[in-house]
This record gives sequence, structure tokens and C-alpha cells, in this order.
Amino acid sequence: MPLSPDRSSANAGARTRFAPSPTGMLHIGGVRTALYDWLLARKTGGQFVLRIEDTDRARYDPEAEKSIMESLRWLGLDWDEGPDVGGPHAPYTQSERLDRYRDATQRLLDSGHAYEDDTTPEELEELRDRQKAVGKPPGYDNRGRHRTPAQIEESRAKGLQIVVRMKVPDRGILRFNDTVRGDVEFDFALLQDFVIMKSDGYPTYHLAHVIDDHDMDITHVIRGEEWIPSTPRHILIHQALGWAPPVYVHVPLILGKDRSKLSKRHGAASALEYRDQGFLPEAVFNFLALLGWSPGDDTEVMSRDETVRRFSVERILQHPAVFDSEKLLWMNGVLIRQLSADELMERLLPVLERPEAEGGLPDSVARPIDREFLRKLVPLVHERLKTLNEAVESLGFFFADEVRPDVEALSERKSDPATAARSLEASLALLKSVEPFEPEHLEAEFRALAESLDMKPGPLFTPVRVAVTGSPMAPPLFDTIAAIGRERVVERVANAIKLLEANGAGAGN
Ligand code: GLU
Repeated sequence: MPLSPDRSSANAGARTRFAPSPTGMLHIGGVRTALYDWLLARKTGGQFVLRIEDTDRARYDPEAEKSIMESLRWLGLDWDEGPDVGGPHAPYTQSERLDRYRDATQRLLDSGHAYEDDTTPEELEELRDRQKAVGKPPGYDNRGRHRTPAQIEESRAKGLQIVVRMKVPDRGILRFNDTVRGDVEFDFALLQDFVIMKSDGYPTYHLAHVIDDHDMDITHVIRGEEWIPSTPRHILIHQALGWAPPVYVHVPLILGKDRSKLSKRHGAASALEYRDQGFLPEAVFNFLALLGWSPGDDTEVMSRDETVRRFSVERILQHPAVFDSEKLLWMNGVLIRQLSADELMERLLPVLERPEAEGGLPDSVARPIDREFLRKLVPLVHERLKTLNEAVESLGFFFADEVRPDVEALSERKSDPATAARSLEASLALLKSVEPFEPEHLEAEFRALAESLDMKPGPLFTPVRVAVTGSPMAPPLFDTIAAIGRERVVERVANAIKLLEANGAGAGN
């Protein structure tokens, strides 16, 4: 088997891989790893490979595989090789590569780097109990090294489970360089012989990913720092097979604001939850890029292209990153404001058109929604949205057949029910006849009306706003009235008057 190509140069077309185990949704830490893989590949003009590590058959979940791919696609992390797109090193799913792992295992057995072990689970348990009793850390005692081939054959004939273990040197120091951590030293005395092939014929992660990284010409392994303690095992396997290990880039943990390991408790945990909550993929991309990597100055908002251009694994930070969900929200608002009105409209359409139960507009609003109408509304909320989902709330009343204002809200703010009713009566008459029905003209007429009624604008406008939108917090009033149109505005104001009357506040009371 030839040695791996020169893996030392970070500038020569890095081949990176994202290698998720499809056992659950893709959490935010995994997404960040995939993002760094993608960035390095794009930056260096290399390739980004997606590999599915599904050798843990008990925990395999086909839905997880789909949702992982969906998350990556949503973020625009396109892969050059992978299970669905194929590539020169196919297949990219470990369960389809078992022959490769068996061949490698045979080579390791033949060269004496590995051995078959028939130690039973009961024996291992007894060993652990004894270690515990004398206060020693639990671990395998390498007893299988001394089995003879005849003993193994006998055990096999008896139906005992046979695994293959990698032989670890009894002493010595293993040194490797990690791009983030620098030089790492590891004492072999702390490591026992470990399983590379399970009795069910499936390899362990340790073996399988080493074979694949080699076969797939991976130059950089970017992964969470929880793998650092296992890395000596991986290097041992590479060396035993005569291969040069890849460059290791172990990225630090992501912590919540309380400095504990990020979990569901700190908010959404998976990429798709952010999508469902109305975050832009470019905001999550931007946020995660800077969560553990720094461009070297305090730039906070970067386009994808700029991020690719400025990315380098050398600037991945050593200390854990703190996940600040308010910052993400802020970034989302900034990036929403950077969209053109048309672009925002395109993003809002699917959000608004989702079924009500999934967060969309009420099911009573006909789908598809009227694009031309939406186009008029977008500028009214564009500046204020922090998530796409907020538009469901802030635009809902434009689409609703009727709004149900709160009686109290109608006469809120320095007003009273009788004044509110009077204001609405006068507004109704104006709204029926005013021409043209356009924001500026409406505003001028309403201000003149306030003057003729000897009222301040506030007590006149507030009941109209609540009558028309259902809420005192709404986009600019006259733009809103013009967008909804005379017929529906007149109907809403008339309904609000009836509501006040039904509650004993008829005009003239
Ligand atoms: N399948 C492993 C995981 O999901 C991959 C770790 C690695 O990148 O080497 O954690």
C-alpha cells in the first residue's frame, strides 16, 4: 500500500471530511465542525467529503442520516463526494465498506500488530470488580495477548465471541502535533490494547475511520477535542499499516453562557431547529464561523465569500467558545436588513405558508398567499424583524379575514371607551370617503380630523390602529391602512365600534 501523499501543506487543496454517526439530530457543535471542514476545503480549492459512520448498528437511525444532510444543505455546505453524490472513493457509507476493514484487520493480525481475543464479558466484569476493589482505574489487562491460536480456535468452536485488539506498546511516549493545541504528548503506559474489530464483524470507530481517512486521501481531520485522548490509538493504526497520519485539528468545546457544556437547556440544539425558528442560514453560518475562530480583527458580520477568503485553521481558538444566543439573534436581524425587499419576500413566503401548527399563518388564510400583496407589506416590517418567524405575528393581521381587538386596548393610552368610540366613528366616516387612499394623504386627512375634533393625534390614532391591526404595536399606521385597503379597513373599524358598543361605550355616552 503506498504511503499517503504529502499532508503537510495546508495550502495545497485540503481534503476534509465530515463523518457524522447517524444516531440523532445534528447538533450545533457538529455543524460547526462541518463548517470548518467546508471552509478549509473551499479556501484551499480542495474537496469536502461527507462520510456516514454507521457501524454502530444498535444506534443507527435512518432519519438522522436524512436530517444531517438536510442541515448541511440548509447551510449551503455542499459536499464534493458523499453517499448520495458518489465520488472516486465510493462507497462513502461505512456499512458498505466492511471488506476494507476486514482486509486491514487481517493485515494487522498478520504483521503481529493485532491479535484475536476471546476474553468473555464475564471475565472483563470480574476484572473491573477486582480493580475497583483495590482502587485501580478500570481497564483491560492485555491478557488476550498470551492466547495461542489453538485456544482461540477452541473458543470459536465453543461459540465464544472473538474480537480483534490492537497491541499498544507497553511503554514510551507518543508525540503528535495538533494544529490547535500544538504538540501533544501521550504516555503509552496509560493505554490498554483496544478493540478494532467487534465480534459481529463490524469495525470500531477507531479502526474504520482511520482506514477511510487513508483510503479517501483525507489531509485534515477536523473534529471535536473530545477525540484528543483517542488520537494516539488512531496514529498507532496508521503507523502499523505504514501510513502517514493526517493533520489533526481538534476544535474546542462550545459552552453555554453559564460555562457548562452546551445542551438543549441553552436553547435550540440542532441546526434545523434554528431554521424552524426563523433564522437565516447565512446568520447561523456567520455565527458558527466566529464561534471558535477569529479572522484576526473584530469583524462580526462577514459574507460567505469573505469568510472563505479569510479562514485558516491556524486561527481556530484554543479556549472554549461561549454560545451567546442573543448575539445570534442580533446577527440575524442585521442580515435580514441586508437582504433586498424581494429577497426577504422570498424567504418569508415559505415561513408564512407553513401550516398554522408548524408556525405559519392561520390555516384560514388561503395558500398560496398573494405575492403582490406581500411585496407591499415587506417594507413595513423589514427594519424590525429579528427572525423570519416574527413576520407571522407582525404580518398576520394583514392577511386575516377579521381581527379581534381587545376592548381594553382600543381605549388604552390617555383615552377612555367613550372617546375611543367617538374617534372611531369620525375615522370611519373619513375612511369611507377619503381619496386617494394613500399613506401620505391619509395621514394629512387624519391630522386635520384630529384638529377639527380638538383632539391630539394619539387618542385618535390609537383606537384606529388597534381596530385595524388588533394590536397597539404595529407597523406605521397609514402605510398599514393603505396596504390593507379601504374595504377591509372600513369593516374592521365598524366591527371595533360594535365591540365598544356591546361593552357599553356607545358614542355620546
Ligand atoms: N463518527 C464520529 C462522530 O460522529 C466522527 C469523529 C471524527 O470526526 O473522527 O463523532
